[in-house]
Order: sequence, then structure tokens, then C-alpha cells
Amino acid sequence: MYIAEETDHGMFTANSQSIQFGPWHISYDVSCILPSICPTKVVCERDDDQFCAFCIYCKELSIPHFPDMVFPKNILTLAHSNGAKIQFIPLDALKHVSNKVQAIEVACSEAWLETRPDAEKQKQTFDWTFQTDYKGTISDNILVEPTNETINFELLKQKEQILFYHDLTLFEDELHDHGISKLSVKIRVMPTYWYVLLRYFLRVDEVLLRSHETRMFHMLNTDYVLREFTSKEAKVQDINIPFTQMKEADDVLPFMPVKEKKTEKLIINPI
Ligand SMILES: [Zn+2]
Repeated sequence: MYIAEETDHGMFTANSQSIQFGPWHISYDVSCILPSICPTKVVCERDDDQFCAFCIYCKELSIPHFPDMVFPKNILTLAHSNGAKIQFIPLDALKHVSNKVQAIEVACSEAWLETRPDAEKQKQTFDWTFQTDYKGTISDNILVEPTNETINFELLKQKEQILFYHDLTLFEDELHDHGISKLSVKIRVMPTYWYVLLRYFLRVDEVLLRSHETRMFHMLNTDYVLREFTSKEAKVQDINIPFTQMKEADDVLPFMPVKEKKTEKLIINPI
């Protein structure tokens, strides 16, 4: 196993780190924030397939607004030597954000709007909480099937040497100071396994808490990855902890009821 580091001092400074874990090449990029306007209009208006990240997002996404902070190149990639690939990409995650308002969003929206009468009406025309049920981008040669197997959380708690770790923010929005909507992904590589936690966390202050978590676990010398999706939701009034202790996802997630849970097996070497 080795860790490699590259730094690009170009216009879009990116930091890359990678590790080899058996047949897996695990890497991530860290980069700057998505601009809120096109910085290279002359180039992008030529319409010859050379576009800045902002223009690509505008073309690919149907939502009228993007989160305050999007990190377009913050991408985690787990590539297997047989060609299989698992990635966590902000653009793909935002493709899962609805451009229609859900019933619950309207209810929340109204409560939220009461707390800030200056809110733009526009906020009610799409999912302004950027809720996404994105579970990672997986290549076509990975077979997905249901399983009764579960992730061994006891193993995850064991103290072992951490070979590789990173926490990447894919996007974040503070809902005009009325909460938070955040998608992040963590990778941890240990001597015998790798583990990924992709988490969407929403807190609309005084109204609602919601999370969508995708965990991926791969044990060395096996040909599959376990993928567990868990969604949780609670009204703030139903959670019996002080509001000041609701700032971070880790503070409230243990108290939130599970709405949905599903585990699948991603077969890396289908026969
Ligand atoms: Zn552009």
C-alpha cells in the first residue's frame, strides 16, 4: 500500500491523494468552490463543448438554484482493477434534487417562511433544501442485489491503524441562516477493510431534521461491497434535546427515528 499526493497550482487548485488497497485504487480530489456566475463567458458562449464548471452545472441540472457552496471537483473515487468504479460526485448528487416541491417541503416551507418574511417566493418552487437520495455513482459492470448480510459495526469500532482518511464536503447551504443542508462523504481505509459514509443532513431550524446516509463497506479479499442506505426524519419538537445541541449531525442522528433502511450487495466480479 502507498499514499500518493499531488498538488496542482493551476487556476483551479486541486489536491489529490490516493492509496492502493489490494485491487482498489482509492483517491480523492479537493478543490475550490463553484463560482456563482460564469467566469469565462467568452469561452463558454462559443458553445463548442468547452465549458466552465458553472456552465456545466447549469446545463446538467434542472434546479433553478444551486447550494451556496458546491465543490464540483471534490470527488471520491474507488476504482477496482477489473474496471469497476464507485464514485461520489457533487453533480450526480444534485441530479437527485427534485425540481418539484414535495408536500412535506411545502409544510416546512411555510413554517420556515414564517420565520423569515423576506424570503423569496422562489424558494417554494423547488426543493430548496436540496434533499438528495444519492447513493453514489456506480459503474455498469457492478451487479446490485438484495442481501440479508449487514455491516459489521463491531469491527468498525475496533481500534486499528487508520491508513487513509478524509472527509469531503460535496455541497452545503445554510438556508439563509435558518439551518443547514449538507452532503459530505468520509472515507476510511484500514488494514483489512475500507469504509465510506455518505451523509445528507438537513436541519431546518425549529422545524425539521432529516438525514440520508449511505454506508459502504468492503472487506479485503472479498468480491463485494455492502451498501446500506438509512433515512431518518424527525420534527424538531419531537426530539427531546436542547436546540443548541442540534447544530451537528452527530449530535442529533442517534435520537432520530429510522424511516427507511435497506442493505444491498454490490458484486464487483459478476460471474
Ligand atoms: Zn461558463
